[in-house]
Amino acid sequence: KRIPLVAGNWKMNFDHLEATYFVQKLVWLLRDAHFDYHRCEIALMPSFTSIRSVQVLVEADHLNIRYGAQSVSVTTQGAFTGDVSADMLAALGCSYVIVGHSERRKYHPEDDANIVDQVRAVLTAGMQPILCVGESYEERRQGIELDFAVGQVHDVTRDLSSDQAAKLIIAYEPVWAIGTGMVATPQTAQDAARAIRNDLAATFDTNVADSVRILYGGSVSSKNAAELISEPDVDGFLIGGAALDTDELAAIARLT
Ligand code: 13P
Repeated sequence: KRIPLVAGNWKMNFDHLEATYFVQKLVWLLRDAHFDYHRCEIALMPSFTSIRSVQVLVEADHLNIRYGAQSVSVTTQGAFTGDVSADMLAALGCSYVIVGHSERRKYHPEDDANIVDQVRAVLTAGMQPILCVGESYEERRQGIELDFAVGQVHDVTRDLSSDQAAKLIIAYEPVWAIGTGMVATPQTAQDAARAIRNDLAATFDTNVADSVRILYGGSVSSKNAAELISEPDVDGFLIGGAALDTDELAAIARLT
């Protein structure tokens, strides 16, 4: 059975002081609600500058919260000004790294080759990639959204072994739903997750397909989380805006 994952992508929000305050408040809210961390996993993806603060808090208080980064260099070390390596993130206790978020694909030259290399770098360092895929409004208008999202997954998985693929987490995040308030219907999220899982089964086997967690992302809130998570192939959420609000994030985690 796949344990659901509620992952907050903070994007470029919260300095390390704000991040510390957020984690303390979130944990307090969850404790108050007798939250069962074995039933649903919670992860936060701060900016690079805040990861160390989250680590210190998690280790000092033995918190059941995982955390990770929003991107990573494809190289291991050396003269790459401004880049952060997977080993550096692993040394900070990161469990996850978001790879190929649509905002990275848009604002940075992250093409398929670069995304595959990021996935490999994350796996080699012993962490799990959260690979983001999803169509824009244009592909949906043309009715090719499932092929598009599955194609983005396939572009990465065709270069992986089945052991590597089994460690992937995939986030289906339709671009038209990100930050717009236009959440996908549960059926839309399920259809995409199912199509992606079927493709994993075809490329590898049902063991891989059954073990990969497929998240939905795009305008997730406490108002729509319960319906979305009731779909059989939706294994949790990658959350932007609502992950900046402790009450919202705690509420979503309780509903998941
Ligand atoms: P929103 O939840 O703000 O729509 O953002 C989703 C997202 O991009 C998470 O990675």
